[in-house]
Amino acid sequence: MINAIMQRLGVAAEQYQQGDLVVTTPIDGSVIGRLTPATPDQVDAAIDAAQQAFLAWREVPAPRRGELVRLFGDQLRRHKEDLGALVTWECGKILQEGLGEVQEMIDICDLAVGQSRQLFGLTIASERPGHHMRESWHPLGPVGLITAFNFPVAPWAWNAALALVCGDSLLWKPSEKTPLTALACQALLERAMAEFGDDAPAHLSQVIIGEREPGERLVNDPRVPLISATGSTRMGREIGPRVAARFGRSILELGGNNAMILTPSADLDMAVRAILFSAVGTAGQRCTTLRRLVVHESIRAEVVERLKQAYAGISIGNPLEGSLIGPLIDRQAFDAMQAVLTQAREQGARVFGGERRLGEQHPEGYYVAPAIVEVEAQDELVRNETFAPILYVLGYSDLDEAIALNNDVPQGLSSCIFTTDVREAETFVSAVGSDCGIANVNIGPSGAEIGGAFGGEKETGGGRESGSDVWKTYMRRQTNTVNYSRELPLAQGIKFD
Ligand code: NAD
Repeated sequence: MINAIMQRLGVAAEQYQQGDLVVTTPIDGSVIGRLTPATPDQVDAAIDAAQQAFLAWREVPAPRRGELVRLFGDQLRRHKEDLGALVTWECGKILQEGLGEVQEMIDICDLAVGQSRQLFGLTIASERPGHHMRESWHPLGPVGLITAFNFPVAPWAWNAALALVCGDSLLWKPSEKTPLTALACQALLERAMAEFGDDAPAHLSQVIIGEREPGERLVNDPRVPLISATGSTRMGREIGPRVAARFGRSILELGGNNAMILTPSADLDMAVRAILFSAVGTAGQRCTTLRRLVVHESIRAEVVERLKQAYAGISIGNPLEGSLIGPLIDRQAFDAMQAVLTQAREQGARVFGGERRLGEQHPEGYYVAPAIVEVEAQDELVRNETFAPILYVLGYSDLDEAIALNNDVPQGLSSCIFTTDVREAETFVSAVGSDCGIANVNIGPSGAEIGGAFGGEKETGGGRESGSDVWKTYMRRQTNTVNYSRELPLAQGIKFD
């Protein structure tokens, strides 16, 4: 199955059938790939090649660069089923979500193609006669991309599509748990490059296989002016200071601990559906997964009851075969979830669900029932991101208290309120409301569209990817003052003669 998919996607067998890096599918733990990690010398050579590619690519006009991204988007449309299925095989999310991830790649390609004709600066009035000022945007250089297992392809595409139209070359270190999808994306991009013609330089995009070490090499190398890294806050804490120490630029997309405030005026049918998708979808392994439900005391018991009923009816199983919840990525993730549930019980929380499923059928597949954990306070356990389907339920009495709870965690990625009261809704998205990068009304915290900037504050890292004016991060800004007069007046009226 995997071999047929890889063949159709254009990945040669020798790229994933030999080597020391063993890749297993979380569906049943079987081995689906063996890859050879890059050596330090190979990483250095790749950076060198990326720099050469950049020097050529930056001279290709931006709308023409957009044409390459258009062709890549066509490849993705053509191979959506295969790439979506490969995402499911490799990271275990259900097929619908695997396909959704590829659709998100197609969407960002469309956005980037349009953007390639809109890399615009400003003209600025000068205080001096016969002068004008403007702001220009120029290509930046090789972009180092480090990505996480749970969204193996879309975040790469958010960065890659924009960076390519901005005139940059790409160096991608995918998660060691999901390198096959990276090889597949690279193969599709190479097909687009072949169709595009000679002005796409060799090594415009490269994949670097390995665990942390090759990523660390990218992070430390001053020839890579921008590092865009998606993953845990632990990872961001390690790499952020290193990039800063060499005055590099970084986009950090790190952990989330996302809340929903559920008010008495909310449409509860809608809210329960939203909770279900955002708390248990992707088996709780989205950065934007709903992890904290802050519900008004007057409806708390009813909502918890409805959720328990809904949770009991969810199908858990093979993500290729129509279930709603697939497996956790690996045993480590399962153990971390169980440790947290044990601690919650010891602290007196009421725990519903959370047990292992299908263990006999798949001893190496870690399927779990999603858990609801009713707590009385937002303690350290709740304030931490556990990357598994655990939904903490907390009560509140007035909106200020609910907003304070929403904000009182170290992370600041996504948040939402369910209400039909316009005052509550507008307060939540105002300056005194949610402190997160994403704040929604009557929509769950996950499942963002590519048109808006994506990312979060505080320990989520502060980076933004995808839409809005994010393209500027992949370019360098230059201010130009042009004197078309025959005089040389100095700014601020300074006399120097
Ligand atoms: P992880 O931090 O274990 O690994 C992410 C990537 O970083 C991998 O490619 C890994 O090899 C690399 N890495 C780890 N340490 C490194 C180091 N010191 N130097 C260089 N590279 C290093 O994360 P994961 O388990 O793959 O993903 C889950 C985490 O990612 C969760 O915390 C989740 O919230 C977060 N995430 C965030 C976003 C977002 O957009 N904010 C999106 C997806 C996932």
